[in-house]
Amino acid sequence: MTVAFATSELTPIAKVGGLGDVAGALPKALAHLGVNVCVIMPHYDTIDAAKYPITDTGKKVSVRAGGQDYVVTINQTTIPGSEVPVYLLENTDFLTGGGVYFEKSAMVNSFQEIERFLFFSMAVLPALAALGIEPDVLHCQDWHTGMLPTFAKIAGGHTKTLFTIHNLANQGKWDATEILSFIGLTVEHHPNLALRDKHDDINLIQQGILSADLVNTVSPSYAEEILTNEYGYGLEGDLTNRGQQLSGILNGIDVGRFNPATDKDIPQAYTATTADTGKAAAKALLQEKSGLPVNSATAVFGFVGRLTNQKGTELLPGLIDRFLATGAQLILLGTGDPVLETQMQGMAAKAPEQIVTTIGFDAALAQLIYAGSDFFLMPSQFEPCGLGQMIAMRYGTPPIVRATGGLRDTVQEFDAATGQGTGFVFKDFTSEAFWVEIARALEVFKQPTAYATLKTNDMTQDFSWDTSAKHYVTLYERLGQHMGAT
Ligand code: ADP
Repeated sequence: MTVAFATSELTPIAKVGGLGDVAGALPKALAHLGVNVCVIMPHYDTIDAAKYPITDTGKKVSVRAGGQDYVVTINQTTIPGSEVPVYLLENTDFLTGGGVYFEKSAMVNSFQEIERFLFFSMAVLPALAALGIEPDVLHCQDWHTGMLPTFAKIAGGHTKTLFTIHNLANQGKWDATEILSFIGLTVEHHPNLALRDKHDDINLIQQGILSADLVNTVSPSYAEEILTNEYGYGLEGDLTNRGQQLSGILNGIDVGRFNPATDKDIPQAYTATTADTGKAAAKALLQEKSGLPVNSATAVFGFVGRLTNQKGTELLPGLIDRFLATGAQLILLGTGDPVLETQMQGMAAKAPEQIVTTIGFDAALAQLIYAGSDFFLMPSQFEPCGLGQMIAMRYGTPPIVRATGGLRDTVQEFDAATGQGTGFVFKDFTSEAFWVEIARALEVFKQPTAYATLKTNDMTQDFSWDTSAKHYVTLYERLGQHMGAT
């Protein structure tokens, strides 16, 4: 089976968030299962050629966009630590400059962003053809590749499409006339192109949802939630109509990369049996680097994530006085919405002895927070899957999460009496409900035996991609059967 994986991000070559982590890990796990997989993505100029050896395949394709012809050069690298080929599509008019996304907030506010990914999507099938690859399955990720299933249908080959929704909140909408003129198609080419929202926009994630042969999202709970008005962003009807063709597969994490036994960003390697000393060393370094009093008895709560409303940091100000009264420390790392950045900086400015906020993207500091914190906060308003909570558990740091999407599927409430469970889970999106679980965590922290059990429970969870990759193979096989039937 040949699978081409089309993506806008890939960790570590070009990472912004969890989508990159999936793209960097799932194809490797698929290759281990014997799938003949390649990745195809834009060749951003932020991709560091010194770190990731890049060769020119010698192949070029011409793509007609907005009535003009453009040349796309096909370069090649591999996913680091594997032989999985990554084809990098280079074109200075649309694909190369400006980082992975032009927008910092993951929202689309300009045609520039839309154009980039329309152009990329238009180049994917011709580039694969030039490389002599006719995939059985074209696996498309998020709105950036939302038009690809339609392009595959119009091309009429044997390739079937799977569209994976990583985050329904980011949709990629733009004026239909501009989109159609750029891609050079009309509604006669495909009926889904006639769909408009109330602003006469075409919604690229909706195109993917409607046109792909199968659709999935990144956790079973999120697959159910997006059928509701609350989480469906107006697409709940379209998603409901897909019936059994929509499913949820939990993401894994790259357990090779996120591994406290080999992590270079932590001071002392550790496993489940040596977690006490390893985590103590990481905690001391984290406190020291953060400029906080170094004290092993003080509970440290960590947060790493994009600062958007999704991540729920706005619940913190409503509980912070109670938090400070306990003497605990809070270490936050994130970047995103300037309003939330200022809010997190403001909290730290008021209590510099207990709270530290770092604004920015810092992979090394993130690892130190995962390892050195006593608890990891993920109070998300919604969370398609979430990787932070799984990474934290892998490092023996119990997460405190809201029961939504993948957080609900991966974290079970800890019961000190039975020793069962992996973290702390609250339901209502309120500071009150969040505080109840933080207070519970602090109680457990005071009970060394219970806390040690909880840490061990976390570190012995299996979040590797193996299981999830098998579920993806099952979906690919379903597409194959579907193929035979049509
Ligand atoms: P999302 O995809 O919604 O951003 P996930 O939890 O699925 O959230 O994945 C986020 C990934 O990005 C995690 O690996 C997390 O550690 C990383 N990350 C997010 N923000 C930062 C940051 N400011 N610095 C370093 N790593 C970050």
